[in-house]
Amino acid sequence: MVAVALLVVALALTLDGLGRWLAAGGGAALAAAAAWAALEARRRERRLVRLAAVGQALAAGRPATPSGESADDALGRLGRALDDLSRRLAGTGRPPTVGDAGLHDPLTGLPNRRLFQELLGKQIAQARRSGELLGLVLCDLDDLQGINESYGHEFGDRLLQAVGQRLSGDIREADSIARTGEDEFTLLLGRAQAAEDIHQVAERLMAGFRKPFEVGDAQIAIAASIGVSLFPRDAADGDRLIDAAEAALAAAKRQGGSAVRAYSTSMEQGRRRRGVLAQELRVALRDDQLCLYFQPQISLTDGRLVGSEALVRWRHPERGLIPAGGFIPAAEAAGLMPELGRWLMREVCRQNAAWRAAGARRLPVSVNVSGRQFQSGDVAEVVEEALEASGLEPDGLQLEITESIALGNFERISATLFRLQADGVKIHLDDFGTGYSSLSYLLRFPVDVLKIDRSFVAGVPASRHGASIVRATLSLARSLGLAVVAEGVEEPEQLRFLQAEGCAAVQGYLLGRPAPVREFERLMADGGVDLAALLTA
Ligand code: C2E
Ligand code: CA
Ligand code: CA
Repeated sequence: MVAVALLVVALALTLDGLGRWLAAGGGAALAAAAAWAALEARRRERRLVRLAAVGQALAAGRPATPSGESADDALGRLGRALDDLSRRLAGTGRPPTVGDAGLHDPLTGLPNRRLFQELLGKQIAQARRSGELLGLVLCDLDDLQGINESYGHEFGDRLLQAVGQRLSGDIREADSIARTGEDEFTLLLGRAQAAEDIHQVAERLMAGFRKPFEVGDAQIAIAASIGVSLFPRDAADGDRLIDAAEAALAAAKRQGGSAVRAYSTSMEQGRRRRGVLAQELRVALRDDQLCLYFQPQISLTDGRLVGSEALVRWRHPERGLIPAGGFIPAAEAAGLMPELGRWLMREVCRQNAAWRAAGARRLPVSVNVSGRQFQSGDVAEVVEEALEASGLEPDGLQLEITESIALGNFERISATLFRLQADGVKIHLDDFGTGYSSLSYLLRFPVDVLKIDRSFVAGVPASRHGASIVRATLSLARSLGLAVVAEGVEEPEQLRFLQAEGCAAVQGYLLGRPAPVREFERLMADGGVDLAALLTA
């Protein structure tokens, strides 16, 4: 126990060292360090929760930590052992149930979906008579699955109870609350005077999630997304009122979670559009309307082509060529990403294997893998299968991940990435610096290359802010032994700045736009670009 605690302290000190080093890098790095410190505090909090639980397990006679293990490994291993134990205990240790099990959720004792629908029907009938306003608030926890997987289901259950209690405490007599899904609570706010009152309650509920919840001796933070709809403004009956709140909730989630959104009619139009798009996309997959474009990555030492990024395009029969940004989000929302991702991976591997077989220089191709693909849980199989089917050597494939993958289970994703890296596939951290947890990703995931986001590149050299972020990222990468690709390079002065700062590789419209296969092959035959000409342009 003491050994584990000491390891944790040692790890924390190393991380503090990194924080200090970053702080020395200037104002931008200071902001990054502050975000880092906040994240570290949360990580340490999680570790302590695990430690406390591990202590209990040890006290119950479980074996102690073998020496020579890193703190992360020890805690991970012990955490998993404990999760198993909690799962086994979960069958016997459930809290007593409240009310009629057919109408109440046995875990929280709150009304279940069935009872809630009855209640909603009655309240709507009453509101129709009285002309009062009703508010429906859907509250969905952002990462219960991750908590279940990290701390065990019993812990997750107790967290749900704590959330239910806090939400119940935050509402008035005229309001009701139900647990309507695995990680979803629904509140019905009655007798409101104005829409504003209901929005205030929703904001107050959201503020409740900024304070940690107590589970046993532990304090744990969990975020939620909230969708709000109003009767009679947004819907004429109960079912449609729920639909409207769901559309608002989906909009809050699309925003990245931890947000409150009220229903608006544009959401309905957006939903219909996405529905149509998803339907067409299924046809596109079937009818081969998707294709790959390749954007060159260029060495800043000599202008040689060092690789490319595959970007998907849709040759739409009526609307022409649609870039990835125009349909990937819809594909994600429609749950089409696993299918689309499998196609993409096969196609990239097939293409690169064909290039290599034709005697072209052996270059790697990067493929973007979205969070949704990781959530479906078979990324490693998809990649391995695509490599095998095409015969492409693993050094011909690189994966670009962003921190959106954190919405899934950290440990499982990390295991997938380690497995792929062991296969010989390189991992690139895309859009680096745009999310607040980028730094923690570097330590927890096996990353080989950082891609500096184009929003920072856009600012150099004119903006001091942009310039110091790019500099800080370059020196961070150097000290961690990582390669860097700066993306979104459009201007010669950006190129000059990046070269002067020692950035190794660049990607962007100045060097080459994403191009279809035949066009990209011409660049491959040239071997690269005339860097001197671009630098002096
Ligand atoms: P990303 O990974 O950041 O990809 C770079 C995007 O920036 C591409 O847009 C590219 O065309 C664009 N770009 C490249 N150079 C420049 C430049 O100099 N200036 C500007 N303004 N833009 C530049 P695209 O192809 O529309 O892709 C958008 C996003 O869609 C990508 O962002 C990526 O997150 C996603 N995506 C693209 N292809 C795939 C794919 O095959 N699978 C998955 N899962 N996502 C993809
Ligand atoms: Ca990318
Ligand atoms: Ca990017």
